[in-house]
Amino acid sequence: MASRVLAATSSPYSLAAFAVVGGAIVVWGVANAVSAVGAMNAGLEKPAPAPVVAPAPTPAPPPPPPAFVFDAPLPGRVVNSPFGLRQMPWEENGRLHEGVDIAAPAGAPVHVATDGIVLRSGVSATYGRFVEVAHKDGFHTFYAHLGRDAGLKRGTFVKRGTTVAYVGDSGRSTGSHLHFELRNKAGKPLNPALFMGKTFAEKADLPLKAAARVPRTVRLAQVSKWPEGVKAKMAAQGASEVGGQVTRVKGGRVRARIMVVDG
Ligand SMILES: [Zn+2]
Repeated sequence: MASRVLAATSSPYSLAAFAVVGGAIVVWGVANAVSAVGAMNAGLEKPAPAPVVAPAPTPAPPPPPPAFVFDAPLPGRVVNSPFGLRQMPWEENGRLHEGVDIAAPAGAPVHVATDGIVLRSGVSATYGRFVEVAHKDGFHTFYAHLGRDAGLKRGTFVKRGTTVAYVGDSGRSTGSHLHFELRNKAGKPLNPALFMGKTFAEKADLPLKAAARVPRTVRLAQVSKWPEGVKAKMAAQGASEVGGQVTRVKGGRVRARIMVVDG
């Protein structure tokens, strides 16, 4: 009996105990659920701070365009007679070659070296057909011994690289080539080789002094063709040409012996 009572009594206790444990489990589970919802609510109310993203670097302002850009009038072609003192085979003394000669076949397009305005075009006995272009800061470029100009009228604005003429052999020329000059605002010739194909950020970077300097050395010119009439004139002056070598005699003294290519 006692055991039965015990059993009978123990049973509700154990049930109650079970219920308490179960309730605790339920409560624990509910608490967990509530805390989970709370966490979710908290997440909604207080959004997590946005991840720190490095601000996009502000692009550096593009560098200002260079103040001066000079192209070669015949890109890729070689200067075969530089700026400086030069003595032609038929001349008594050296004189300043005020530009550079660039050999090129007749008809090759001549590009204006830098932006400018066509100043004039015409024909001279010495330079043959020529075109002159004015540029900013008083620079002038001059293109000579041309076959023809490109027909651009005076005052036409020409961007660097524009075809202003075509190579030829006009005037007192020694074969098909371009005679190219660059002058400063005072009209003084500058050595174009110090500008061709070069870019200068500022005006102060221009090699104006160096380009105006004329070396003392007189270069004897090698020419592939003598201008018309020169040989006859030289013969009248007492010079003779033997086997490609010119001997100039003045007052009984040999003044010059000059090798002439294809004399
Ligand atoms: Zn020349």
